[in-house]
Amino acid sequence: LIYLDYNATAPVRPEALAATTKALTAVGNASSVHAAGRDAALAVDQARERVAALLACSPNELIFTSGATEANNLALRSAATPGQSLVISAVEHPAVTEAAVAVADAVGSTVHTIGVHRDGTLRLDELEEALATSPALVSIMAANNETGVLSDLDLVVKIAHEAGALVHSDATQLVGRLPIDLRRLQLDLLSMSGHKFGAPQGVGALFARRGTVPAIRPLAHGGGHERGRRPGTLNVPGIVGLGAAAEAAARCLDQEASRIRLLRDRFETAVMTALPGTRRNGHPDRRLPGVSSLTFDGLPADAMLAAMPAIAASEGSACAAGAMEPSRVLLAMGLSRDEAECAIRFSLGYATTADDIDSAIRHVIDAERRVHAALYPNTT
Ligand code: PLP
Repeated sequence: LIYLDYNATAPVRPEALAATTKALTAVGNASSVHAAGRDAALAVDQARERVAALLACSPNELIFTSGATEANNLALRSAATPGQSLVISAVEHPAVTEAAVAVADAVGSTVHTIGVHRDGTLRLDELEEALATSPALVSIMAANNETGVLSDLDLVVKIAHEAGALVHSDATQLVGRLPIDLRRLQLDLLSMSGHKFGAPQGVGALFARRGTVPAIRPLAHGGGHERGRRPGTLNVPGIVGLGAAAEAAARCLDQEASRIRLLRDRFETAVMTALPGTRRNGHPDRRLPGVSSLTFDGLPADAMLAAMPAIAASEGSACAAGAMEPSRVLLAMGLSRDEAECAIRFSLGYATTADDIDSAIRHVIDAERRVHAALYPNTT
């Protein structure tokens, strides 16, 4: 199988596997005061430092969670204020859009959604307009999960802070793939998830800048773990895996990004040259190095994917209530339903090789020709 679905999840890095396995073979609750507990707590401290180093923040600004969904919920819940709005973009992951609606309902606030341009970049004019709704929080993703399009977070922070709003970013798809420096980028809150860059699934973190976020309101009630912000026994094996993946990713972030970008560009150039009916979705440059969202004109994504079983990629649609719904993200960018239904997301990552890409190119071209011949037998 040629795995090109890193935006769904990445294979566990060897360093993370070793760290998690070691933690699983040890015993110790990080809250216990005996030696075994202290060892677990030390392992968690080291992981916290490693994640903090990847983000360039302070270790005590991190709260470990079960992943980005929980981190997003925690961020939105903590920032929501009665009578003030939550501003999000139309292309956020459901872990932000759904959380925003629920949180707004709970506190008596409203959600204001801003659009994107055809290339997936944010409509900054709409962001400016949204400030009239007196936002408590502006939440804009760092990189889109379907197209990889990057947000200009510096500008978002500047605009939102001038209006007195806090800024959160769901950086799940960016962290571990491109550098981020929270000393420079003045986000107040940031969500991340380990499994997108080689940690085990089910572990992530929320960054909450010291001194700027009024109070973290825990989602559950229980013990005083994570300084009272996230109760429950710490997932030590997952957390140390996250730390190891963060350290491994940080070691060669720039080189990896360049290598992956070259492979992605080689893939796109070969496929788009051989198949002129193929269109790329999203800004050509301002996107993650490993993502290629392609629309194969007139060829539904499910038929294409069925014709290339050797490739693991995703369609640009989601199964909602048993019916296939075209991607909200692509529709928000102005694609028609038909175009959105013909989109496939290929996403590369740290373990993708040149051989993977060369065979993927052959499989995609071959699948396109076969699906085209089956659906349009009378054309050449
Ligand atoms: N946000 C974005 C942009 C994502 O791509 C994902 C993963 O699909 C999530 C949030 C949810 O992350 P997790 O699986 O860690 O809850």
